[in-house]
Amino acid sequence: MQTSTWIKETKLKTYPHVENDIHTNTLIIGAGLTGLTLGYYLSKAMSDFIIVEADHIGAGASGRNTCKITAQHGRIYQDLIQKHGYDTAKKYYTAHKEAMDSIEEIIKEHAIDCSFMRCDSCIFTQEETNISQIQDEYQAYLDLGIEGEYIQEWEYPIPIAAGIRMHHQAKFQPVKYMQGLADILSEKNIPIYTHSPVTSIIQKEDGYIAFCNHRKIYANRIVQATQLPFYDRHQFFFSRVHPSQNSLAAAHIQEELPEDMIINIDDPLISYNTISSTQGRWLVIGGNETRTAKACDKPDAFVMDAQKQFHLQSIDAVWTSQDYQSFDRLPLIGRLQKHNNHLLIAAAFNKWGNTTSNIAGKLLCAYLLHQESQYMDLFDPHRFTSIFALDFVKENATIAYEFIKSKFKDPDDEYPMINQGKVIMIDDHPYGVYRDEQDELYIVDIVCPHLGCTCTFNETDKTWDCPCHASRYSYTGEIIKGPSTHKLNAYGEGLNPIDPHIL
Ligand SMILES: Cc1cc2nc3c(=O)[nH]c(=O)nc-3n(C[C@H](O)[C@H](O)[C@H](O)COP(=O)(O)OP(=O)(O)OC[C@H]3O[C@@H](n4cnc5c(N)ncnc54)[C@H](O)[C@@H]3O)c2cc1C
Repeated sequence: MQTSTWIKETKLKTYPHVENDIHTNTLIIGAGLTGLTLGYYLSKAMSDFIIVEADHIGAGASGRNTCKITAQHGRIYQDLIQKHGYDTAKKYYTAHKEAMDSIEEIIKEHAIDCSFMRCDSCIFTQEETNISQIQDEYQAYLDLGIEGEYIQEWEYPIPIAAGIRMHHQAKFQPVKYMQGLADILSEKNIPIYTHSPVTSIIQKEDGYIAFCNHRKIYANRIVQATQLPFYDRHQFFFSRVHPSQNSLAAAHIQEELPEDMIINIDDPLISYNTISSTQGRWLVIGGNETRTAKACDKPDAFVMDAQKQFHLQSIDAVWTSQDYQSFDRLPLIGRLQKHNNHLLIAAAFNKWGNTTSNIAGKLLCAYLLHQESQYMDLFDPHRFTSIFALDFVKENATIAYEFIKSKFKDPDDEYPMINQGKVIMIDDHPYGVYRDEQDELYIVDIVCPHLGCTCTFNETDKTWDCPCHASRYSYTGEIIKGPSTHKLNAYGEGLNPIDPHIL
């Protein structure tokens, strides 16, 4: 998988792997922004917990994003008012505004060197036909008392028809921020384990056992800070969200650009941000919004478009990243099972997890410490009512369609060229074949062990991605992200086991 510029330029510290059985009060799975932020807040009240990460700190979406810290989440407030009413929309805004302040407080208190700065955020359109949508969103700002400025011009060297500026938002380099959080935890002797994937969890009378690196972690309580829970206890959260992927690039630029973070409401989506970091000043370019595993016709088009607008000196990296979106636009933070305080989750951050992870950290901490929070109901994973039913049915019809489509894709007869991945039928079964630069072939069973959809090849990251629930695997078959907890078997190792519980 391609590494993000943020991961590349950060000197990440090393942590032990899980090598022995461990007993702990609380196990936090996942060392992204959510797991580490929860750890930060929890460590103020207790010390008997550990964080276990499948890869390295920030290996997930947290280390691969656009670096924006904002309460301006695209064109959201009009939609929230329509779906949930004024009070909920206002509460959503307040929660994110508070999250920005909390992040700033943490950074200042602990002097975390992560290029944090306050700046403005803008949503905009370049199309006359979309101006009314900007006006509706601006009306929502007025109705909710959100500070915003309606704009028709700006200093960015790209045209604008209309937009809304939100003042006093922020940006940071997320991986440096996460390393800062991890350092605070290490100073308090809170154990962090990396390269330690939890592959399954079982419930016992007196708690849970999580299996990791062929060892057992005994815990009274488990938090899955894994973007989507893989231990689902038949709650089927994967069917309540849909995966969405983008490509990102970081480029050195010649010109002075304003600090504004901008995102359009048009199709195709474009998103820009600038970050000054150790290695100079970057323009972060976001584009190619697709459902995970849907190939882009022109994967480089978003960088080419940026090249027409800005003087890009050199492109440091191009990578993809993904997040889950909920049908009602509100994240899912709280109990996995309705009445069980011992299993908690945080999911579906709708690509705005830099602030949502802070909300999740505080909220999950409140659950664990038996405290109240005014945001518990707002983000309650069990809040679903009939208004989401249509989207729910549509999404699951899409997944069923992707499942069936993936079975009828025309496999290729010919083996791939260098750096190419293809689906080839061997013994009437679809295998993914990738040829690397040394002319080595890697052949893996690409039927996803989570639910049985057939994965497709991701040209940018050279990964096999599942079109149904967005599990991702390297071309050698290793899991990059769940909800799957089983790797792809190599040819000769037998077929992948499909999760029998879900089927
Ligand atoms: C293209 C893109 C751009 C974005 N830009 C922004 C932005 O500018 N601003 C913003 O606010 N948000 C943005 N986001 C969203 C934000 O990045 C995510 O919502 C947020 O990072 C999620 O944090 P997390 O900690 O919950 O998940 P992650 O960062 O994905 O962390 C989960 C961790 O859990 C680990 N894990 C998973 N399964 C296991 C297991 N079985 N055992 C052990 N460990 C496991 C993973 O390896 C991973 O490190 C963007 C998202 C995308 C896709």
